[in-house]
Amino acid sequence: MMTRDEMARRQAAFQRDANRRVLPAWLVVLFLTTFLPWGLGGNLRDSGGPKWVTHALGATGFVGVLASVWWFGFRVNRFQRAHQLVCPHCGNGLAARAGRAALKTGRCGRCETVIVADPTGEPVSPDPAARKVRDRRLVRLTMTGCAVGLLFAWAAWVPLKLMGEAPSHLTWPVVVLFPLAAFGWVTAIVVLPVQYPRRATACLFAASAVALVVAVLAAALSVPGFFDLADPARQP
Ligand SMILES: [Zn+2]
Repeated sequence: MMTRDEMARRQAAFQRDANRRVLPAWLVVLFLTTFLPWGLGGNLRDSGGPKWVTHALGATGFVGVLASVWWFGFRVNRFQRAHQLVCPHCGNGLAARAGRAALKTGRCGRCETVIVADPTGEPVSPDPAARKVRDRRLVRLTMTGCAVGLLFAWAAWVPLKLMGEAPSHLTWPVVVLFPLAAFGWVTAIVVLPVQYPRRATACLFAASAVALVVAVLAAALSVPGFFDLADPARQP
């Protein structure tokens, strides 16, 4: 069993390693899987390239966002294991927020097992009631903020659209669905992990996937002929 000093040392080493090797690599992955396909697709569309290729590149970019998020989680998990920063009982990672909690109490924040040789004896969650109040406040604040943001976005776009002053890419599906996807996503990634703390990562992933699908749907509904991916050879 490690001591709390040892855990602090491992956490610092993990952080240094992660900053140097995971974050920059993630940016490269995001560029290759998302921004490069989107950029190429945009160029091809402007130069009148085959439609199905631009659509395929667009779809690749969206899958790429999810893939890069998954890759990031995978790398972080591997680095945590390499630095021996996982709970020996439940496998919970002991870096970042979970790491600070573990350092403070000497226990794993998930299964509450003592994981260091010199625990403080402090309970993992000192005051569950206080935490509940804090969580409720956070949920209320987020939902109010996002509802106001959604109304503002619609209040700005819908009149423009009705007056026919909106730029051509602001089609009705975009006007209605984009703000919904964006503010719905922010709400979901704050509220869901509070509701299901044990499935926080799955919640983030699911919320991001739903928001992406809605955003793609809005974009697809706005591009004439998006759904008839006919054989490009037969297109005039
Ligand atoms: Zn544990």
